[in-house]
Amino acid sequence: MSKPKSKRRGDLKKGDLFRDTIRKMKSIESGHLDAQWILMDVLNCDRSALLLKADQPVSEAEAEKVDEYVQRRILGEPLAYILGHQDFYSHRFVVTPDVLIPRPETELIIDEVLKLQRPIESIADLGCGSGCIGLSLLLEMPQARLWTCDISEAAIEVMKQNAVALGVLDRVKYSISDVTENLMENKYDVIVSNPPYIAKNDERVEDSVKLYEPHSALFAKNKGLEFYEKWLPWSFKALRKNGVIVFEFGEGQAESVSKLAEKAGLRVMKIEKDLAGIDRLIVAVKGS
Ligand code: GLN
Repeated sequence: MSKPKSKRRGDLKKGDLFRDTIRKMKSIESGHLDAQWILMDVLNCDRSALLLKADQPVSEAEAEKVDEYVQRRILGEPLAYILGHQDFYSHRFVVTPDVLIPRPETELIIDEVLKLQRPIESIADLGCGSGCIGLSLLLEMPQARLWTCDISEAAIEVMKQNAVALGVLDRVKYSISDVTENLMENKYDVIVSNPPYIAKNDERVEDSVKLYEPHSALFAKNKGLEFYEKWLPWSFKALRKNGVIVFEFGEGQAESVSKLAEKAGLRVMKIEKDLAGIDRLIVAVKGS
């Protein structure tokens, strides 16, 4: 029996490339989905178009790009950094290795703010990273304005790029700094934050997170509580009367963060769980 001729790259069809990519990514838990994302990105199509017309030809450059992305993914690089974007609250955010990859559990902050059902004019987002929280809130609240900060200049650049792409830059003010350098008393209706909260010696952190995501966005001193200790008292002063904070925190930190909120003068309204049933958010108010 004669050996089948190996296909020239140029003869490659979309269906073949798709199957081949899935096969190469078998070792990765999310391999099937990741393969779809990579192909949708490189071939610039949506999921339904990807699954149709399997015999559509694929260019050599496209096949090479898919190969490169697959190799990087197999070596452990997060998909969001490979593709350069991540969806959050139904919007596409540019992400680079300078910013934390927006997580689905962080979307709960947006839901909690919307549930407050009160007029909100001014919002602060502390440690903005990609800007996913503050900018998503602006998109939900056309009247609101945002002040945001991050100690990373590169992160502020990413946030600005996202603000431009989402059409809200005219409602954003920002500062490359820690909040403690910028106190505006009694100014904000809502202050949101997903601060770095992982204790430096926490062994539960996945390798891909530790290896690829910015450590300044992940880790915090004092068992991960450093930023609640600094930012909750700041928030108390910066909030208007009846203003509210909605902060994310890590597994096992609900009690400590609640105590710190109370110590800062805030009244804890609720602790909310994420979709995995883990306490994840605190909502607290500056009472009268
Ligand atoms: N606010 C951004 C996010 O939630 C960045 C958070 C951070 O850098 N710790 O993704």
